[in-house]
Formats: sequence, C-alpha cells, structure tokens
Amino acid sequence: MKTLKDDQVFYAFSPELEPKMSVAQNESFVLETCDCFANQLTSNDDTLDVLDWNRINPATGPVYIEGVKPGDIVRIDIKDIELTGKSVMITMAGAGAISGITKAETTVMENADGFIHVPTAMGDLKLPHELMIGVIGLVPAEGSIPNGNPGKHGGNLDCNLNAPGASLYIEASVDGGLFGCGDVHALMGDGEVLVCGAETPARITLSTSVVDQPNLPTPFIENDDVYATVATAPTSDEAYKMAIDNMFYFLTEIAGLPDGDAGRLMSLVGDLKFCQVVDPEITIRFEFPKSVLEKLGYSGLPR
Ligand code: CA
Ligand code: ZN
Repeated sequence: MKTLKDDQVFYAFSPELEPKMSVAQNESFVLETCDCFANQLTSNDDTLDVLDWNRINPATGPVYIEGVKPGDIVRIDIKDIELTGKSVMITMAGAGAISGITKAETTVMENADGFIHVPTAMGDLKLPHELMIGVIGLVPAEGSIPNGNPGKHGGNLDCNLNAPGASLYIEASVDGGLFGCGDVHALMGDGEVLVCGAETPARITLSTSVVDQPNLPTPFIENDDVYATVATAPTSDEAYKMAIDNMFYFLTEIAGLPDGDAGRLMSLVGDLKFCQVVDPEITIRFEFPKSVLEKLGYSGLPR
C-alpha cells in the first residue's frame, strides 16, 4: 500500500503545496502522522518552553487524488487508525475554555490493549480508546489556512465523528484536491475544552473518491448510525444555525423530505453537538439518524 511517512508534513492548507504522493480513486493508502506537537513532548519534564511553536498541528500530505476537479465532492473514507506511540496532554494558564487552570503541566500517557492509562492524583484511570482524527481536509482555492484552524475545507474540525468507519465529504477547490490529515486523538470529549485531547502519533488507512452529489452541504460526515452536517463560525450561535440550515437542506433537497417533516424530525430525533470550542472558531455538528431516513425510503448518498 502506498504510504507517506510522518516527515512529509505541512502546517497550512494551501493550493501552493506540492503533492507528496498521488493515489487513484478508491485506492487505499496510509498516512503516518505525528501528534499535534510534532512528537516534541516525550516526557512529563518537557514543558512548553521546549516547543517549537512553528511545528504545531502537522498534517501528513498533501496527497493528490487522481481525477479530482475543483467543485467535486470528495468522499474520504477513514478505514483504520492505529496508534503508534504514547499520548500527551498539556495544561497551561488560560488553556482552551477552562479559565481556572493556572499551572503548565505535561502529561504523557501509555496506550495498551485499547485503553489509555490516565494518571490522576486520586489514582490511575484506564479509559477505552475512542480514536479520531482532529485535522483532516483538502486545500482551499486560495490563501493559506493554518492547520490549527477549522473551516469549509475541513482542517482542525476536531470532530469525534471523524473516526474509523466514517466518511467525510469535502468539496475540492483544486485539481487533485490535495488531501492531508493529522492530529489523531486516542480519546477526546465533545468540545475539546482544554484545547487538546489525548494527542497521539498514528498510522491512518484511508481511501478517497469523487461522489456524484453536487449540492451536498460540506463538510458532511456519515458513519453507520448518522448523517452529520459540520459547521464552523466565529461564534457558536452562527455555527449552530449553519449546521441546522445545512441539515435541513440535506433532508429536503437531497433526501426529499417536505419542509414540515424535515423540521419535525430534526426536532424529534436530531442532535446538535459541539465538536470543539477552542480552535479558535467554533465547530458544531447536527446529527440525524440514518435509520429514520431508511424507513422513509432514502437509500443514501451515491457510492
Ligand atoms: Ca485539533
Ligand atoms: Zn489534537
């Protein structure tokens, strides 16, 4: 399988990037990724002053996807995530959305047998992994968007749905799409309130293809259970409205529900959730259960 090593990285999504690898549509490939600190923090003694802040949130890539043209909707299948090292978290004064923290600490944590070992002052916790990808996307048409920022192109969505078995849909802006990802978390709660999850190097297996669904509101995610619209804006009010509007558009214009049915069902079985509140714009998703649409005869997005 074609593989890109974790030294083939970029720090901003930009159409100027040179592709590091080319893949055919539906071809499986592997990206080896550093953690979001570029693997610079290896022990609890590595405090933040050892960090080269120019090497934060590396994404491996970009990968040129053959046949992709600007305006195409690209489906990115996350087939597998394998952790390749320990996890690390940091605290610092004013980190993320938790105003009470004053002290800078680095905490390195072991991963084994599907669990992360989290030390606490009251004893160690063993918590099950929930692997996900923080930074994932295609380059924008113009400009340069640092990997720390989320947006229409994807980027630092920090969305827990970007997990093995899920497909993320992003609209391509350039030939080949220019795909990259990184910032894997072994575990992270919705919101990512401390501005980091369990930051972990990984080996990610993916495949990509163009989907014939031109008006899909992207970023859009599906997994076995839900369809989700993913929206990023400067405030949570703007982000949740956009996520709701995009799901309503999907249900009415693509799945074919009348307005009233879409509205009633969104309110009955749809879930509005935070992806992250710290990147520094806000990313919010609206999840709608696939099983309900299947009962109404919607057969899903074209494969
Ligand atoms: Ca992140
Ligand atoms: Zn991260």
